[in-house]
Amino acid sequence: MMLMIRVIIMDNGGFVDLSHFGAELMLAKTLFEYGARTPVVCALCGIKRKTATRIYWLAQHQAPIKGMLPWDPHWIGRSTINNLHASIFLGLIQDYASVRANGTEFGLQFCNAYALYCRIVAHNPKPCSREAGFEHHRVLDINRAWQLTRQFHASALHFATCLCCQARFLISRQEDQHAARCPVCENKTGSVASKHRISRPFSQNAGKTLAIRLDRY
Ligand SMILES: [Zn+2]
Repeated sequence: MMLMIRVIIMDNGGFVDLSHFGAELMLAKTLFEYGARTPVVCALCGIKRKTATRIYWLAQHQAPIKGMLPWDPHWIGRSTINNLHASIFLGLIQDYASVRANGTEFGLQFCNAYALYCRIVAHNPKPCSREAGFEHHRVLDINRAWQLTRQFHASALHFATCLCCQARFLISRQEDQHAARCPVCENKTGSVASKHRISRPFSQNAGKTLAIRLDRY
């Protein structure tokens, strides 16, 4: 349902009627509250930077943060935690956001997916030390979530199914989808291998290459 909210703001001594921007205004305000930067808000709400800046001023009573957006095309490969959080969020995008949605409709779906991601990670009963270092365990900033969504829609990122645990996880376009283990299972394998390497001489491990991937060491 289209929200019809009449907002009148001062503009150089005059008034600007923004009533037809009701849905965009509410969405922009919510995105700003999640920490979205102005370019992300403009893209998701279909509004101009000047309008977004005014909304930020009205909501936060200060100028929006300036500077570059976070951009690292290899972010999901930097750590297991990064991949896990990106997989949670983009899984929600894949399941609940329509590729046919456009304009504010997609902006709302994106915002709802991020809100749901925040609720999911906030209830993590055993956050690792890195997750605990983020407010409400939100390792994935909303601006990076937007960048990852663009990568996903550009097919630079894909979902693969883990051969061990059947979990859905992200891989880059260059990686093989059919011979994949999720980062958690990769880490488990690494941990097991490390324990064996510590407790046994190499000669005893040499015959266990099926269970221990020695080529990784
Ligand atoms: Zn797995």
